[in-house]
Amino acid sequence: MTRTGKAVVYDAPNAPFIVREYPLRPTRPGEVLVRISMSTICRSDIHSYLGHRPNPCPGVLGHEIIGIIEELGSGIDRDMRGDPLKLGDRVTWSEYFIPGANYYSEVLDIPQKSPGVDKYGHMAVDTDPHFHGGFAEYCYILPQSWILKLPNELTDEEATPVNCGVATMISVTERAEIGMGDTVVVQGLGLLGLYGCAIARARGARVVIGIDTVQARRNLGLKFGADVTLDPAAMSEADLVKQVRAACRPDGADSVIEVCGYPEVIPSGLQFLRIGGRYTLGGVVNPDSFVRFDANILLRKLITLRGVHNYHPRHLIQALDFVTANRTRFPFAALVDGKYRLDQVGKAMSDAAERKVLRAAIVP
Ligand SMILES: [Zn+2]
Repeated sequence: MTRTGKAVVYDAPNAPFIVREYPLRPTRPGEVLVRISMSTICRSDIHSYLGHRPNPCPGVLGHEIIGIIEELGSGIDRDMRGDPLKLGDRVTWSEYFIPGANYYSEVLDIPQKSPGVDKYGHMAVDTDPHFHGGFAEYCYILPQSWILKLPNELTDEEATPVNCGVATMISVTERAEIGMGDTVVVQGLGLLGLYGCAIARARGARVVIGIDTVQARRNLGLKFGADVTLDPAAMSEADLVKQVRAACRPDGADSVIEVCGYPEVIPSGLQFLRIGGRYTLGGVVNPDSFVRFDANILLRKLITLRGVHNYHPRHLIQALDFVTANRTRFPFAALVDGKYRLDQVGKAMSDAAERKVLRAAIVP
């Protein structure tokens, strides 16, 4: 008898989610089959579902996933740290996998941008082996992914966002070169921004300022390491710039990070910076993120502008170790504030899209 499992599928953007059964096949070399314990809805899942960016359909979304190993394919018995893997282990893994060694992975050391890179929760459900997204009972971890065993003390709520939200912010803050004594501004206090405040603090920032229009998020920002939070809707851009610069003595922020996804915040972000400051974009992931700003400011203020998309495998290890080491310092578990069953993915998605919850979790 063929074993089957359930996956939650949508046939087209904005179409209803349907629970369907698909066959499970034996693992192939280099593959690991996991039974999913939890999957959280990332903002990019929402963008895909709403059709803001292309995603093959019928699709199975979800890439922030953790699970328990059910079956190990041949040739894989260690995680990326070299720790042995066995049935029953709880693991996280990179949100992407690559087709093999290539110029970007081997020469430039940016495997996350390899040609042909694919991501969990970004493939049509008809593509073998059906289970490669988070909103399902099972997931095959495919070859050329990076797997990491989870420490027992971490709860599922703390561990699930590690492989996207946390790892991405480790990558963003590394590129932003946040170091000891820096003044840092984070534009957007969604999940990425909150992790960003906490990581900036852990990297030694002297002042962390969080900016968001939502009061509840500003309150959370203070719990995640921000010294000051500001509401950009409550004041003019000129006043916002003035307040930020006054808090970043002597002459503006060393580093500004955009993780709100709105390109229109870029002009004020540039004005927050001191001469020689660094501006890092981590949120404007959608195409057509046009904005108009005075490029002369970049030149005159010697500003470094950087974009960051996804993360290097080393950031996954750093993300897990950061959350494990700081779980009593920052309330990570509180970020996952809604739980839904597989047949409630539609509700979870709309609650997340309407920002009724910060991180909705699907628990199969
Ligand atoms: Zn994500």
